[in-house]
Amino acid sequence: MENLSNIGTIKEILSKHGFTFSKALGQNFLVNPSVCPRMAEMCGADKETGVIEIGPGIGVLTNELAKTAKKVVAIELDKRLLPVLYETLSDHKNVKVINDDVMKINLHKLIEDEFPNMKVVVCANLPYYITSPVIMKLLEENLPISALTVMVQKEAGQRICAEVGTRSGGALTVAVNYYSKPRFLFNVSAGSFMPAPKVDSCVIRLDIDHKPTVNVKSSKAFFKVVKGAFSQRRKTLSNSLSSGLGYDKQTINSILEKSAIPQNTRAEQLKIEEFSRIADEVFILEKGN
Ligand code: SAM
Repeated sequence: MENLSNIGTIKEILSKHGFTFSKALGQNFLVNPSVCPRMAEMCGADKETGVIEIGPGIGVLTNELAKTAKKVVAIELDKRLLPVLYETLSDHKNVKVINDDVMKINLHKLIEDEFPNMKVVVCANLPYYITSPVIMKLLEENLPISALTVMVQKEAGQRICAEVGTRSGGALTVAVNYYSKPRFLFNVSAGSFMPAPKVDSCVIRLDIDHKPTVNVKSSKAFFKVVKGAFSQRRKTLSNSLSSGLGYDKQTINSILEKSAIPQNTRAEQLKIEEFSRIADEVFILEKGN
């Protein structure tokens, strides 16, 4: 549908379908016409590419993706939006809407069924209440996707794109950097949405090369250490890992010594390779027990 990102058209469609926004489902719809074309252009899609969109809402971004990509599959949880999407996407034959929960759907099967032998990317204005779990699901499941371009709250975007080993980084920064190369694309003001949220947003892109950025003996041990280290981010590693991993301080200090990391270091000061050294020592310890 033409002019779909025009606020007048959006209001008209929503009132025609008697649609009311659900706060619980993170429904803030884009009404700034410049944002979706930019996302569609920068997400890595072209006429050979399949795109998975999460939460199409009334289909503003979906429309732009359908023009750029070979095929778009949009996963929307709110079934009240299905008749709306049926109307707004009627011009496009290369779009399929699936009524499901992104956290429950089998994405490997979806990609196999919908995008055989195609390059696949994800592009979405994410529902903010599940930003981190969605990003981690997409990364951890080792899906055959090459990039993930998502709109997130500005603070979450800054954290994800922060440098590992600096104060602005956190557990999510390390996790995302383990699987991908994150980069900031552009800011989006709160006024670009209806209803307007309290905070600004930004669009980030994670490029996935399917090789972890560090070699570890066990990725499970790696994530356990990252989570434990950041469980009390202002405390020293000796303290945070002791309570986070459930070992006495003597054991943790010996692990830190073997990893060549001073006991009084804090999680936010560690580089990704240093997390991996600790994780390998934890793995060796646990394997021997
Ligand atoms: N893409 C639209 C836009 O930019 O205007 C809407 C984005 S809105 C921030 C998030 C969308 O995700 C809503 O349509 C909401 O119903 C949907 N949603 C929320 N939770 C979901 C879930 N678990 N699985 C799939 N879609 C979900």
